[in-house]
Amino acid sequence: MSDDAGLQALREAARLSPDNLPLRQHLAGQLLAKGYLAEAEAEYRAALMLAPKDPGITAGLAEAFVRQSAYGAALAALEPLLAEPGYPPALGVLAARALLGEGDMARAGYRYHEAISRDPSVADAGLAARLSAPAAPSYAAPSYATPAYNAPAAPVTQYGAPGPVAAAPGHGSSAEVERSKLSFADVAGMEAVKEALRIKLLLPIQQPELYAAFGKRAGGGVLLYGPPGAGKTHLARAAAGELGASFVNVGLADILDMYIGSSERNLRATFDLARRHRPCVLFFDEVDALAARRSDMRQAHTRQLVNQFLAELDGVDQHANEGVLVLAATNAPWYVDVAFRRPGRFDQPVFVPPPDPAARAAILRILCRDKPLSEMDFDAVARITDHFVGADLKGVVDRAVEAKLQQSISAGRAIPLSTPDLLAAAQSVRPTAVREWMATARNYVMHANDSGAWDELLPWVKGKW
Ligand code: ADP
Repeated sequence: MSDDAGLQALREAARLSPDNLPLRQHLAGQLLAKGYLAEAEAEYRAALMLAPKDPGITAGLAEAFVRQSAYGAALAALEPLLAEPGYPPALGVLAARALLGEGDMARAGYRYHEAISRDPSVADAGLAARLSAPAAPSYAAPSYATPAYNAPAAPVTQYGAPGPVAAAPGHGSSAEVERSKLSFADVAGMEAVKEALRIKLLLPIQQPELYAAFGKRAGGGVLLYGPPGAGKTHLARAAAGELGASFVNVGLADILDMYIGSSERNLRATFDLARRHRPCVLFFDEVDALAARRSDMRQAHTRQLVNQFLAELDGVDQHANEGVLVLAATNAPWYVDVAFRRPGRFDQPVFVPPPDPAARAAILRILCRDKPLSEMDFDAVARITDHFVGADLKGVVDRAVEAKLQQSISAGRAIPLSTPDLLAAAQSVRPTAVREWMATARNYVMHANDSGAWDELLPWVKGKW
């Protein structure tokens, strides 16, 4: 029986006895030993559900993470055990490898020394050399971790480059994980956009069997584009809430770093953060700055960032981004490198249009719903706010509320907001750049639309703005 046939038989056996812990652990160990890292990771996760906090399984999972360069994930897996006194020293060595991968030499060194002082047999010569620490004389595999424990001499990154690991600034992601309280009910209008997101993102997670039957899996990306302020961020946050997924909102400042190589590391750390919190909606705002056409770039290192972004979207294997939904927003989709539009990446650009009068009324209703109100005619306000996008309407409501607050303070009682208040505020707010945006879009649609990428915009740019 060939290796893979053996593995296949094991997979089949585990599928038939999903609760057989030793079998699943054995399968996971085999997968890890043969380098099927994402599958090993999934198998260890499943085993961990059966035996939470089992040190051997945790070690296997952490190893799978480290070998995928998901150092943060490895640490997250190890942390609950490391917090307990007398934890198995081999876990300390794994933690040291993960910390080194993250560039945290000091903590890596501490963990490593602590581990080998308790059990010299877990020493790892390669790791010790990289920590500039003396290796312990005897070198053996840890006894309880299922897989053979062969630390690579240098951390092989996901894409093969043994990048520098030590002390470069900006080796993490400053993006944070949020829990979104919004749902699609909080997004007015945009029915077509919501439907596109439902099919692409939500249904595969909500009905995985159906999608699996058609050979499709959850994950992938959608590029949201449209005029600024039309609600792209709001929509992404609502998609996360709708799904019960974590939400990571990534701005340019979270990624871009003046030091060469640091931006790529930040990007990787951000993807890792999302992978650790799956299901997760990973949202990139102003993505055109991170995914710009490589032909427009003069500097090689900026191209490198684009390549890194493409590699992260593709993942090391087909499971790497499972349950990670990448939403990206841009006002300038024509600057995004066409490579991002290949299948499995942002293959489906979705236009987030400026709201029509009915959508404007609905947005106003949502924006005013928790305020003291007299009887409101939102349609009347919608009629006089041509060219206003969601962000402009928010400005109108904020201004009206401020004025009302002042009046209420003078009167000594809460005076509810009324239609004339909104109408007056709307007169004093200038809509943002929809008209200019449409003019730019018209140029691209009419003169640079060879591939038909912007056909969806045709009816819009032909309208009167
Ligand atoms: P963009 O990301 O497209 O620049 P935002 O999502 O930041 O725009 O929109 C700005 C604000 O406008 C949001 O925080 C939200 O309060 C409001 N808004 C925009 N579109 C909608 C909508 N369809 N329904 C409800 N509120 C909206």
